[in-house]
Amino acid sequence: MTPDERRAALDQIANDVRACTGCRLHEGRTRAVPGEGDPDTEVVFVGEGPGFNEDREGRPFVGRAGGLLVRLLGSIGWSRDDVFITNVVKCRPPDNRDPQPDEIAACAPFLRRQLEALDPAVVVTLGRYSMGTFMPGARIGQVHGTTAPADPETGARDALVFAMYHPAAALRTPALERESLDDIARVPAVLQRSRQRRAGIADPAPDASPAPSPTSVPSCSPTQEAAPAPARADATTTPVPTPAAVPAAASAPVLPVESPAAADGASQLTLF
Ligand code: URA
Repeated sequence: MTPDERRAALDQIANDVRACTGCRLHEGRTRAVPGEGDPDTEVVFVGEGPGFNEDREGRPFVGRAGGLLVRLLGSIGWSRDDVFITNVVKCRPPDNRDPQPDEIAACAPFLRRQLEALDPAVVVTLGRYSMGTFMPGARIGQVHGTTAPADPETGARDALVFAMYHPAAALRTPALERESLDDIARVPAVLQRSRQRRAGIADPAPDASPAPSPTSVPSCSPTQEAAPAPARADATTTPVPTPAAVPAAASAPVLPVESPAAADGASQLTLF
């Protein structure tokens, strides 16, 4: 897909979202919230669903949780314009209740189409419902800060999924905010790793290896490594990142990894 085709595909998806009446959530919406960001990015953040402010503005993460997301991104030198931000459901659940499984399932084709168009190297999940889409059966307390290969059925055909707490949860609990800062500091290294996987270079931290608990892994401060920018230079002609943009694999920190298959399957959501 060329950059122009990608833009056109994302515009078409956004129009389809705004016209959607596929589940009960359309009845209470002021504006649908398809998502926004750099169409050429390599990194997609997926939240749960719009809240009050997002519903008013038709844009994702513009309220207090969005403020924290922007701060988290800033801690690694990125801005919200460097990435693409969307949600598992595109219309606000009434009273900010959790999205229900049938609502998530009804909206899943939009997310899948967005991921097919964006073809991200990294999908960052924000919160339990987003994590449940990409790491079925996993528990957020166990897998936050860890990666798993994306199931291509999600639309992300060759990506690493990285789980984080929802910023709204982090706003409520200072310990989770600190963990979120530690977690997001790992995202640039996950991007490097995914770029290498996508270029056919051996993965320095394959997901089949035993999964250390996130708390046993020393946290990375945002300044420990240069954050590679999450924009493909020209993905159609230059799939291999330049050495200047991507430090050698040997110097990349080993990431905590988690096989979602090994996690508790009690809350499994099968959406794709
Ligand atoms: N919470 C979400 O999950 N998504 C938003 O867009 C805003 C708040």
